[in-house]
Amino acid sequence: MENQKAVKMSYVVNTVLLTFVLGLAVFFYLCNAESLVIFSIPTICVYLINYLFIKLKKLDFFVWLTYFWITLYMSYTTVALGFNMGFHLYSLSLILVLFCTDYMSYKLKGSATRAVLISCGIALIYMCSTAVAIWNGPIYETPKIYSNIMLIFNAGVVFAFIIIYAKILINMIIASETELTRIAHYDKLTSLYNRHFMMEALKEESDLEGSWIALLDIDDFKNINDTYGHNAGDYVLVHLAEILKSVCGKCTISRWGGEEFLVLCKDKSVETSIMEKLRSEICKEPFSFESTDIKVSMTIGVSVYEASRSVDKWIQSADQKLYAGKNSGKNVVVY
Ligand code: GH3
Ligand code: MG
Ligand code: MG
Repeated sequence: MENQKAVKMSYVVNTVLLTFVLGLAVFFYLCNAESLVIFSIPTICVYLINYLFIKLKKLDFFVWLTYFWITLYMSYTTVALGFNMGFHLYSLSLILVLFCTDYMSYKLKGSATRAVLISCGIALIYMCSTAVAIWNGPIYETPKIYSNIMLIFNAGVVFAFIIIYAKILINMIIASETELTRIAHYDKLTSLYNRHFMMEALKEESDLEGSWIALLDIDDFKNINDTYGHNAGDYVLVHLAEILKSVCGKCTISRWGGEEFLVLCKDKSVETSIMEKLRSEICKEPFSFESTDIKVSMTIGVSVYEASRSVDKWIQSADQKLYAGKNSGKNVVVY
């Protein structure tokens, strides 16, 4: 999917660049800059060849040929038409694009490009071509109105380029961070919060007065796996998570371990008796997997918050109640 997006984006970028050099070829003709008109022919060929690279999904070739050619184009136009036209400004946008490519390459292939080294190379070419243009003066003298218009146009394009690329880069970073946060906070199988998130939530919460937690453990889950298979076990976990979400919608629910769940309730309107409702609903639920009904039950330990206890002790107390429930024959809520 990411690759398809990169191919699409490459087509757009290449078309924009091709249109751009075609327009500039006309401008060079109007300036009577003969060598630049001739130079536009291989430039146009490069962008036509780029379509082939993109079609063959050789994006590396496309990217590096484009960077190389833009640098060459930028330096030659600066030397030929002078510093005042603003063609040298393209190097600045190129550096941002280089780092954007660096990041993309790292995301898609796991290896970064040599953006710092190449940027230094571009900076050096920028300084050399600018110095030659200032020292020697332009090869082609053009009317001042041409250079003024071109400078404003080039500056506008470069700013637009920098703004668009910076936005793309930031959007990619935000999307990537959001995904990482999701992975760090959620359990993959059940899509419930994971133990790490729940522990953080419990420890960072400042107002827990009136809250309660419940530790839930599926009874004889090993038997379910042994009898119906591991996939059936997974299905039970997923379906159970759905029931938990529908019954305890106002609570924070986490998968605490393999077949254990921890529910935190801070909402004063939800009473601990909701756990009894949950237990009985699970007992009644058929848990149909591949046309076989699986009987599932849970043992639950409930513990109310006490300010004098640490979070660890609070969880320990729920665990002790759960243990007592297991010892008293399972499928029960211990308060
Ligand atoms: P008890 O009633 O005392 O809780 O017995 P139990 O069989 O539920 O508990 P036990 O700790 O003996 O077994 C838990 C089983 O849960 C063992 C493990 O293979 C299984 N399990 C843990 N995580 C997963 C999972 O993600 N998927 C599946 N299918 N099974 C899992
Ligand atoms: Mg267990
Ligand atoms: Mg169990």
